[in-house]
Amino acid sequence: MLYCTSKYTLLFAIIFIAMSAYGQTTYYITAPRVFDGNQLHENWALIVKADKIIAAGPATEMSTPAGATKINYPNATITPGLIEGHSHMLLYPYNIKEWDLQVAKETDEYRTIRATIHAKNTLLAGFTTARDLGSEGAGYADVALKKSIEDNIIIGPRLLVAGRAIVATGSYGPKGYDLDNQIMLGAEAADGMDLPRVVRDQIGKGADLIKVYADYRWGPNDEARPTFTLDELKLVNEITLSSGRVMVCHAKTKEAIRRAVLAGATTIEHGDDLDASTAQLMKQYGVVYIPTLAATESTSQYKGWKKGVEPEPEAVQNKRRAFKIAIGEGVIIGMGGDVGVFAHGNNVLEMELMVNYGMKPIDVLKAATSINAKAFQLDTAFGKIEKGMKADIAIFSGDPSKNISDCRNVLLVMKDGVIYRQEK
Ligand SMILES: [Zn+2]
Repeated sequence: MLYCTSKYTLLFAIIFIAMSAYGQTTYYITAPRVFDGNQLHENWALIVKADKIIAAGPATEMSTPAGATKINYPNATITPGLIEGHSHMLLYPYNIKEWDLQVAKETDEYRTIRATIHAKNTLLAGFTTARDLGSEGAGYADVALKKSIEDNIIIGPRLLVAGRAIVATGSYGPKGYDLDNQIMLGAEAADGMDLPRVVRDQIGKGADLIKVYADYRWGPNDEARPTFTLDELKLVNEITLSSGRVMVCHAKTKEAIRRAVLAGATTIEHGDDLDASTAQLMKQYGVVYIPTLAATESTSQYKGWKKGVEPEPEAVQNKRRAFKIAIGEGVIIGMGGDVGVFAHGNNVLEMELMVNYGMKPIDVLKAATSINAKAFQLDTAFGKIEKGMKADIAIFSGDPSKNISDCRNVLLVMKDGVIYRQEK
């Protein structure tokens, strides 16, 4: 009998764990502030059942459902799970190891093992979704990483992955090796009429979107110059759209931004040389700008810039200018830091710089939730706290709508109704 009881206790325990692991619990969650993806509300409550938000509104109008687990944090703010717009899970900070060496000398296996920790750190920092824009020489390890998260083998954000990404022949690195060596590139080279085959192949291997480098540092003095012609980019976009996916473009120069926008890119990554006319074009086409301020600041510091002590280097000044122009011209601005260049889990750095470069904290919160969700075609389920949305929730102590760095004070992270982090 005793054996029987303990056996059943164990069975129930397993069922309970399995249920909570798959988000079957009902939660009644309250905090003094709720940022719903667009605006801040005071004294709201939300009810999460299984993997969905089934109610959100003033706490006075809501009652605790029977059997619900209550979660309340005084002096905290509830937000939708944050969305990282530009990550590289297969990379880690270049001041630990240079990009060339990671790509050329490290095995995909080693990099993938590291990436499992990067994914975990991202999720536990409050980022429940990330758009990963290229495995940088690690093949389709990003597709495997995504599947491992979906299959609950490891923990991490929901991923949208680019796979290998596409570069024009001769433009991308690593470079500078003896030409007798066939050095594997950080992305897949393709040109002209070979582009449709490569786009289709990447899609077949699991790419959720097609990332194209519309320019790269291949000018006579290693400066960024456009790579693909407008027609090549249009061809990539046509095939990509036909598959139900979107094209996103790395573009720093004005001409590459122009070609990318005209060809149908949904987001422009980096945009360092953005000026008023390219900004107006982006606005006209509804193309979202992903600034990656943190990558520029990080690489500048890796090259020796002493931030706060020395004047800002040209690269940082350019980014500030581009960001200001984008705000001034009314370009839709999303949030993406090019994290991987700097440490995974430190994603909030980009949000802090967006505020530092002139955006209001509440607008930065919007960028990292509802705007990113819409930019990445995820807005029917993510980026908002609203009845019917998926239960991706972050809770931070303090008020990030006033002080964005409060996003560093993570109290709770829920993805698909499952709690992955819960602080006292
Ligand atoms: Zn990148």
